[in-house]
Amino acid sequence: MLRDAVRSLAEAKIAPYAAAVDEEARFPQEALDALVANDLHAVHVPEEYGGAGADALATVIVIEEVARVCVSSSLIPAVNKLGSLPVILSGSEDLKKKYLAPLAKGDGLFSYCLSEPEAGSDAAGMRTRAVRDGDHWILNGVKRWITNAGVSEYYTVMAVTDPEKRSKGISAFVVEKSDAGVSFGAPEKKLGVKGSPTREVYFDNVRIPADRMIGAEGTGFATAMKTLDHTRITIAAQALGVAQGAFDYAKGYVQERKQFGKPIADFQGIQFMLADMAMKIEAARQLTYAAAAKSERGDSDLTFQGAAAKCFASDVAMEVTTDAVQLLGGYGYTRDYPVERMMRDAKITQIYEGTNQVQRIVMARNLP
Ligand SMILES: Cc1cc2nc3c(=O)[nH]c(=O)nc-3n(C[C@H](O)[C@H](O)[C@H](O)COP(=O)(O)OP(=O)(O)OC[C@H]3O[C@@H](n4cnc5c(N)ncnc54)[C@H](O)[C@@H]3O)c2cc1C
Repeated sequence: MLRDAVRSLAEAKIAPYAAAVDEEARFPQEALDALVANDLHAVHVPEEYGGAGADALATVIVIEEVARVCVSSSLIPAVNKLGSLPVILSGSEDLKKKYLAPLAKGDGLFSYCLSEPEAGSDAAGMRTRAVRDGDHWILNGVKRWITNAGVSEYYTVMAVTDPEKRSKGISAFVVEKSDAGVSFGAPEKKLGVKGSPTREVYFDNVRIPADRMIGAEGTGFATAMKTLDHTRITIAAQALGVAQGAFDYAKGYVQERKQFGKPIADFQGIQFMLADMAMKIEAARQLTYAAAAKSERGDSDLTFQGAAAKCFASDVAMEVTTDAVQLLGGYGYTRDYPVERMMRDAKITQIYEGTNQVQRIVMARNLP
């Protein structure tokens, strides 16, 4: 029922704008409005904080169905989970009440600030600094590649509180867009997910109350990594969605397109491609849903499974969307058809929340 409801909404209210959002590289406001109106913009927020209380699998299905028509729009529910999960996992009751309620209502989106210009895969090498000043912390530094920067009201920011301790000297904070000293860089000009704003976030002597720290001092990096164990599954969901969208489109196209006097779907070479695409999508779906169940239960092998799902599903998304372009021939290569956008959008799922090389490092360190 959830899938049917999200699919109908996505097709009616999000899909019609997906091409324009990409072409104009603009924020998908129509998608945000539709998601908020239907309580689907941050479904993971627990009911006690005014949220829909969706479990990890239901959240995956929402993201998957939105990504099937527009990957940029699927970053709204996905990054709301990414940004706020540190608060849910490690925040005080006061922080949860203060920030989850407006997120659930749609009054403010949440972003996640881990990466920096010089610290991507090696996130623990970050330089953003937080220094204690009485009842406050003062933040200085630059975060890079921050999804929904400028649009979001709230930012989970990882910063160094003790430079001697490397990852154990990193703490997490909630910073608000309106805090004095917060500003944003120009939107990045990207290959795909062009509707999702990606900007630098600057912290220039940003003074925030000490109770905005998420969890204890020095636990920020652990919280950031624990968050990714859960949210990599949402990237797998995006990958799965875009692969399904490209497959569905290509499957319809090959039945219409005629060459050599018959639909190209009649050629075994085409049928074998579609069979392989469907097989890979289904394998990615099973791995992703199993990982979502592990996320919900907090199973001990979640780290391996989340990385495996993200890595596998994103590789499948790249293969399937590339094959979808191939199945449409020259038409697939043009912006008159959606599959080239899907192929460009799929690429990011192999890169963010840890590149697929990093996922392999994570899996190798956590072999079953
Ligand atoms: C559109 C977009 C949105 C993003 N959104 C966010 C966000 O909201 N919040 C956030 O914090 N970050 C975000 N990111 C950042 C993203 O997570 C990083 O780009 C990613 O982790 C890779 O870091 P990097 O770009 O510095 O690449 P690098 O770390 O410089 O990696 C370059 C290459 O080296 C490889 N590599 C690095 N180390 C190793 C190793 N040990 N072994 C093998 N290969 C290695 C990588 O896999 C990659 O192929 C976003 C990025 C993009 C492009």
